[in-house]
Amino acid sequence: MTAQILSALAEALGPEAITLGDDMAPWMQDWTGQYQWTPLCVVRPRDTQQVSDALRLLNAAGVAVVPVSGHTGLAGGTRAQGAVMLSLDRLNAVRDIRPDARLAIVEAGVILSDLHDAVDPHDLSFPMTFGAKGSARMGGILATNAGGSNVLRHGNTRDLVLGLEAVLADGRVVDLMSELHKNNTGYDLRHLLIGSEGTLGIITAAVVKLVPKPRAFATAMVAVPTVGSALALLNRLQDVTGGAVEAFEFMPAAYMREYARLHPDTRPAFDQDYGVNILVELGATAPRDVTMDEAGQVPLATYLEEVLGALFEEGAVLDAVVAQSDQQRQDMWARREAAAEVSFNRKPLVIGDVAVPLDRVEAFLEQAHAKAQELDPKVEALWVAHLGDGNIHYVLLPTRDDPALLDQMLEDMEGVTLSLGGTFSAEHGVGSSKLGSMARHKDPVALEMMRAIKSALDPKGTLNPGKLIPPAGSYQYPHVR
Ligand SMILES: Cc1cc2nc3c(=O)[nH]c(=O)nc-3n(C[C@H](O)[C@H](O)[C@H](O)COP(=O)(O)OP(=O)(O)OC[C@H]3O[C@@H](n4cnc5c(N)ncnc54)[C@H](O)[C@@H]3O)c2cc1C
Repeated sequence: MTAQILSALAEALGPEAITLGDDMAPWMQDWTGQYQWTPLCVVRPRDTQQVSDALRLLNAAGVAVVPVSGHTGLAGGTRAQGAVMLSLDRLNAVRDIRPDARLAIVEAGVILSDLHDAVDPHDLSFPMTFGAKGSARMGGILATNAGGSNVLRHGNTRDLVLGLEAVLADGRVVDLMSELHKNNTGYDLRHLLIGSEGTLGIITAAVVKLVPKPRAFATAMVAVPTVGSALALLNRLQDVTGGAVEAFEFMPAAYMREYARLHPDTRPAFDQDYGVNILVELGATAPRDVTMDEAGQVPLATYLEEVLGALFEEGAVLDAVVAQSDQQRQDMWARREAAAEVSFNRKPLVIGDVAVPLDRVEAFLEQAHAKAQELDPKVEALWVAHLGDGNIHYVLLPTRDDPALLDQMLEDMEGVTLSLGGTFSAEHGVGSSKLGSMARHKDPVALEMMRAIKSALDPKGTLNPGKLIPPAGSYQYPHVR
C-alpha cells in the first residue's frame, strides 16, 4: 500500500517532489522540540495543480495529509506521525504587486520577510511582523491567523487578506481570489479557511493588503512603574499622534535578565533592573510628522520625547532611551524578537498564549502567578506581552517535572484568563497543544458547529487529523511539555 502511494505520488508530481528517509529530518519535529514524529514521506508540489493532484490521490487512498509551510508554528500543528507532509515551500512566487490597488498576490510558500522586501521598493509594507519572519511562510501565517507586533495598528492576518485560493481534501480547488474590499456574496469562506490550521483545506495563494511604508519611526525602551502606567503611556501616545503607535511590547525584569544572560555581548537597555520595560514604536507617513526640523529631529520623535518627558514629571515613567539610529532601533527589536529563544530555553515549562482586555493584564499577571504558587511555591513566571493588544506569552517554570502538576498549572492559568474575559489561545493557534483547552473551555455548540463543518468539507478526515478540534466527549489530554 505504502509503496503504491509513493509510486503514484512520484508519477503524478515527479520523483524530485518526494522526500524520504533521513532527508525528512527537518520535518520530523516542531520548532519547540516538544513533538517528534516520522512521516510517511514529505511531498513538495510546485504549483496549485500539483497540490490538487496529490490531495485527490491521497484522499482516495484515505491517507492523512499534514500541510507545512515555514515550520515555525508553536502549537504542534504539523505533527504528522505516519502521515504525508505536504510542504508548500516550492510555491514561493510573489505573483503580482499592484501598488495602485495597494495589494499583492502571493503564493503560500512565500517567506514573510521576502514579501516585506518585495513590496519595499514600492514604498509599501505588508504590516505583519514577528520574530520568525525570516522562516514563517504565508501559508502557515494564513492557516494560523497569525498576530505579531503590529496588530495594535493593523490587525491580525484576517484583517490583511482580500482573497484566497485553497485545495480541499478531495483535491477540488476553491477560487476565492477576490481583490475587493466589499464582496457580500454569501458565507465568508475566506475567513473560515484563515485560522483553520490546515484542517479544512490547503491554502495555496492569497491576495493581501498593503499599506504605505512608514517614512520615519520613533522607537524607545521605556521603564514604567506599573502596567497601569504603561497603558497611560500608550493611550497618551495614541491621542497625541492620532493613533501612530505601531508596537507596544512588554518585557518584565526576568525577561531582560534572561536575554542579557543569553546575549552577554549586548548592552543592557538600562543601568538598573525595572519590572515593566516597554518597547514602543511610532511610525508615520505624513510629511508633517517625518520632515526634519532645524535641530535635525523629526516631529514624530519630538511627540514621543514630549510625552515621555511629561509622564516622567508625573512619575509615570521611570527611565527611557530613545533610539538615535537605525542600529539602535534594530538592537531594541532584537531583544524583543528573541522571545521564543528566551522563553523556551528552560524545562519543564507550561506555555500560555493568552489574551485579556488591556485593563486586566495586570490582574492576570498577579492572579496567574499566585495560583501557580499554590501548587508550587517556588514556580517562576516569565512572559513577554504584545501589551498593545492584550496578548501575553506567559510561561511558568515549575520546580518539578510532574505531568499532573503541569496540566493543573495550565488549567489554572486558563481559568484565571477566562475569569477575566480572556482567551486561552490568542495567536499561535490550537494545533495539538491546546486540544485539551478546547475540550474544556470552548462553547459546546461552537465545537459541534466546527465538527459539522469539518465533516462536510473533509468527510474522510484526511486533512491534518487530530488538530484544532477535540473529539466529542473526550477530555483526557496529557500535558505535553
Ligand atoms: C521565534 C518565533 C516567534 C513567533 N512569533 C509569533 C508572533 O508574534 N505571532 C504569531 O502569531 N505567531 C508567532 N510565532 C508562531 C509562528 O511563527 C506563526 O504561527 C506562523 O504563522 C507559522 O507559520 P509557518 O509558515 O511556520 O507555519 P507552519 O508551522 O508550517 O504551520 C502552522 C500550522 O498551519 C498549517 N499550515 C501550514 N501551511 C498551510 C497551508 N498552506 N494551508 C493550510 N494549512 C497550513 C500547519 O498544518 C500547522 O497547523 C512565532 C514563532 C517563532 C518560532
